[in-house]
Order: sequence, then C-alpha cells, then structure tokens
Amino acid sequence: MAVPKRKHSNSRSGKRRAHDAKSARQLHDCPSCGHRIPTHVVCPICHKYSGLSYPEKDPGLAG
Ligand SMILES: [Zn+2]
Repeated sequence: MAVPKRKHSNSRSGKRRAHDAKSARQLHDCPSCGHRIPTHVVCPICHKYSGLSYPEKDPGLAG
C-alpha cells in the first residue's frame, strides 16, 4: 500500500483548509410575499416556490 513519504506541515494543512469555511446562506425576497428567505427553498411564510404552492405537510415527502 502506498504511504506518504513525508508529514504534511501544519502550514500546508492550513492552506488547504483556508477554503473550507461555510459561508452564510444567500437571501432573496420571496416573489410571492416579499419576505427575506434563503434561495432555493420553499418559502416558510407563504409555502410557495417557483409559482407553485407546497402545503406544509406533503404526504409524498413527509413519509
Ligand atoms: Zn413567501
């Protein structure tokens, strides 16, 4: 089995992980009710996404 020849320096690991931080969810105004909501989610206030209505309990998704 291949084995790394040398230990990675702490600096090298740190450089790799410099790009690992999570960024905040992008928000936009719901086109139906105007509240600030994260993008690409069904609106928690008016339960709409892309012009379609998604009631709170969807038997197909809730299981
Ligand atoms: Zn909405």
